[in-house]
Amino acid sequence: MNNLIDDVFAEFADGDEDLRALHSALAEILPEASLTLYGENGAVVPPSQSRHPADILLQLQEHTRSGTGFNSLRLLGNRWIHGIRVADCRALLVLQTEGLDEDLGRNPRLARLYHNCVKLALLRCLHHEAIIENEQLNRRMLVVSSKHTKLLDDNHQQFLLIREKEKEYAKKLESEIASQTKQLREANASLEAASRLKSEFLANMSHELRTPMNAIIGFSGLLLETDLSAEQREFTETIGKAASSLLVLINDILDLAKIEAGKLELDPAPFQLRSLVKNVEAMFRSQALRKENKLFYQVDPALPASIIGDENRLRQILVNLVGNSLKFTSRGDITIKVDRVQEDEQQVKLRFAVNDTGIGIPPDRQKAIFEKFTQADGSTTRKYGGTGLGLAITSQLVNLMNGSIELESAANQGSTFSFVISLQKDIAPADSLLRSGAPGAGSAEAGDREKPGQPRMEDAPVQGDLKVLAVEDNIVNQRLITLLLKKAGCQADIAGDGLQALEMLKTHHYDFVLMDVQMPNMDGHAATRRIRELEASADRDDYATLAGRARPLYVVGLTAHARKEDERQCYDAGMDGFLTKPIIKDQLIALIEKIRSQKV
Ligand code: ADP
Repeated sequence: MNNLIDDVFAEFADGDEDLRALHSALAEILPEASLTLYGENGAVVPPSQSRHPADILLQLQEHTRSGTGFNSLRLLGNRWIHGIRVADCRALLVLQTEGLDEDLGRNPRLARLYHNCVKLALLRCLHHEAIIENEQLNRRMLVVSSKHTKLLDDNHQQFLLIREKEKEYAKKLESEIASQTKQLREANASLEAASRLKSEFLANMSHELRTPMNAIIGFSGLLLETDLSAEQREFTETIGKAASSLLVLINDILDLAKIEAGKLELDPAPFQLRSLVKNVEAMFRSQALRKENKLFYQVDPALPASIIGDENRLRQILVNLVGNSLKFTSRGDITIKVDRVQEDEQQVKLRFAVNDTGIGIPPDRQKAIFEKFTQADGSTTRKYGGTGLGLAITSQLVNLMNGSIELESAANQGSTFSFVISLQKDIAPADSLLRSGAPGAGSAEAGDREKPGQPRMEDAPVQGDLKVLAVEDNIVNQRLITLLLKKAGCQADIAGDGLQALEMLKTHHYDFVLMDVQMPNMDGHAATRRIRELEASADRDDYATLAGRARPLYVVGLTAHARKEDERQCYDAGMDGFLTKPIIKDQLIALIEKIRSQKV
């Protein structure tokens, strides 16, 4: 800007002198021209105070340096008025002239001067506007920056507030989590307690339900062996069959309750796969014949002979599936098939399938039949019986073995139920089979079920008179056991609890003991443990049965608790065998034969 000012005033190289020259030049060239100085707010500065044009120009220069200004050129009447308003109207130089153009045209110096003045004023104005803009910008920036600072401050405050709130919230959350964790722990503990109670209840129910069933089945069996009229026989058989169905149902409900309580654990041990399938086939052979069905089984010959798994539960699955196939098929084929899907050094993956050519299951019912208490259609119960529990248990058991059951079926064409599971190969030395087989002899385990109406094999009673001490607190069962033992060629004495049993061992000789587990005063486990202690001590001579024996007294546990765990507890207490209630006559006879052959 200064360059421009210099440029404008370059005409007046010697400063004030030339400005004065300008004034006189103006007066000379434009005699008509009058110079008026306007002061602040457009008020006219009186001529007495009007200064030399040079002053005015200087003033103009000063004002335009710092203040606002504009220039205008307009025609008023027939006169050119050129005004330069400067610095907030504090100075307004007005040149009034007639025929200014001609004058300017005539006098190039004046024209240049005039134009330079106008140019200067314009530049001043622009400069001034720029300054103002700049100032405004600065002000705005100041405002923005103060707003910004305020915003930052506010933000910071907010941030602090939020942080504070966050801390509070975190604290609250922590305490809430802590209290909820506490509540959850408590709930968990009470759930665990409830679940413990539930499983105890299940165990007790199992005992309470099986004990009377034991009596009903046992006595109706014994009754059938007496002289009965045809009608009495029919009634007794009906009682026996109804009781057997009830037992199946009780077992199913208890199984399902156990599965749902997460209490059912698999009990893997080495077993012979082929024998298992063969046994299942044998179990249903006569039932198949009655409905003119053909029953087949196929076990992949490449499969290892012995594998490790829960044989009883696997049998339960197959029995359920084959039982259903037989129930819903007549004059057809039923096939049990076991194939090898995959095998490595440790494991073998097997596919079990039970196929029939029976009534089939319509597609819309196929999913539901795996739910408990569900049958394919409403008429099933009337026509075929059943409760709709079998497949629910079966599929849960398969799940427990890490498999899943599948169904392929078409109405009136038949059904195939199949599942794939992986089992460990039995790579232990061969004697493990003996070990696993040993205690099982003569034992009826949880998975051993008899379907209603299943024919019983008739065994010949064992002759001879083994002396048995039967320890049992329930009077009905005492009577039943006595009769069963008598039928099996044994002579039985009864003790009402463990303490009584020990007393009787003092004065009598017994070949073996049938020991109930759950009894008042002294239970079967405690009594057996005591017997083993006595055998190992000199006190045994006080006991007629224990004194001078070649081998330890054979003690067989007898309990309504049918779980593997119960069996294990019996062996842990020192028992030699294990029978579950209801006592199955064939198993009792097999046990007695075994004892006899070992000459205990
Ligand atoms: P149920 O005790 O009623 O047989 P399940 O759970 O074993 O209970 O079976 C449920 C239903 O599934 C049966 O009632 C029957 O309608 C149908 N079902 C099961 N297996 C077969 C089969 N092999 N053929 C035709 N229907 C079957």
